Amino acid sequence: MRGLIKHSRNLIRNYSWTETIKNILPKPRKKIYNLGACFELQDIQKTSYNPSELSESQFLEYSNLSDKQHLREAIRNILIPRVVGTGNHSIVRQYIVQSLRDLDWKVELNSFHDTAPIVGALHFHNIIATLNPKAESYLVLACHYDSKYMPDVEFLGATDSAVPCAMLLNLAHVLEKHLGSLKTAKRSLMLLFFDGEEAFDEWGPKDSIYGARHLAQRWEKEGKLDSIDMLVLLDLLGAPDPAFYSFFANTESWYMRLLALESRLSQRGLLEQYTSSGVAPRDPTRYFQAQAMRSSYIEDDHIPFLKRNVPILHLIPVPFPTVWHTPDDNESVIDYSTTDNLALIIRLFTLEYLLEKS
Ligand SMILES: [Zn+2]
Repeated sequence: MRGLIKHSRNLIRNYSWTETIKNILPKPRKKIYNLGACFELQDIQKTSYNPSELSESQFLEYSNLSDKQHLREAIRNILIPRVVGTGNHSIVRQYIVQSLRDLDWKVELNSFHDTAPIVGALHFHNIIATLNPKAESYLVLACHYDSKYMPDVEFLGATDSAVPCAMLLNLAHVLEKHLGSLKTAKRSLMLLFFDGEEAFDEWGPKDSIYGARHLAQRWEKEGKLDSIDMLVLLDLLGAPDPAFYSFFANTESWYMRLLALESRLSQRGLLEQYTSSGVAPRDPTRYFQAQAMRSSYIEDDHIPFLKRNVPILHLIPVPFPTVWHTPDDNESVIDYSTTDNLALIIRLFTLEYLLEKS
């Protein structure tokens, strides 16, 4: 993961709350991370697509679909050093590809050559999985499957991004029976596993996000970017007590749905160890903060798409996990309650987005 965050002197510009959210949230804390201006959320629906919320029966049915054992197995299968160009990297790629093919997803590799500092010429492979390759538009859930090259130490990248990859495989596994209609739907689902997110030497425009840069450019040439409804990028997930913020105005209404789904699950007691999972609990304890960070700027795989006007939801905790880019980003940092909870919220969001109430 990237290093750059632009700081703003103006930490808190607006601290009021929208009517929509103020009734479901405790009062905010005063302390805001030093990462940019915070704004109230805006409930502006900028797209014409506005699906209904899940009905109560759908909500309860879908909430019970978790397969925690599968999620753990998927994490363990990915949690090996997997630097681009190594045998382990191929093993993890094959595991992701085969897992999705076994679930009847259409999987293709977007392969290309590029040169990286230190290691030289490399062959990269983005993994693109769809249920309906002929769909007109896609909700895209994305993460990166390479791990950071670190000489002399074993770096496993549990949060970065073994857990996000496993969450996407788990979503495909758990929802296998419920996503059948998406095999013929015009608006369907794509899972995207970027290669080469990590820098080999020092993070910069030519040494980072190799796969995302290549794919965004290619799809622009092919006229395919318009078929991306929204790209939801998962990164640095799995550590306890993550705090998410809305970064982009044009996807804020979708961010608010994540926030609302978290509240809905919490109110029904459907989140696991929700208030006691963390080592540094916040008050209030909630993952999706009712705040926007407009001037924060985190470099990640979404940037080449953002620059080409693809709507982005960036699900990355702020601040980053303390173990970020250290050998401690291993299985011991994974909080499985938090991981299960986030997987559930993202799954419900995906269903709400794609399955219109019949
Ligand atoms: Zn990283």
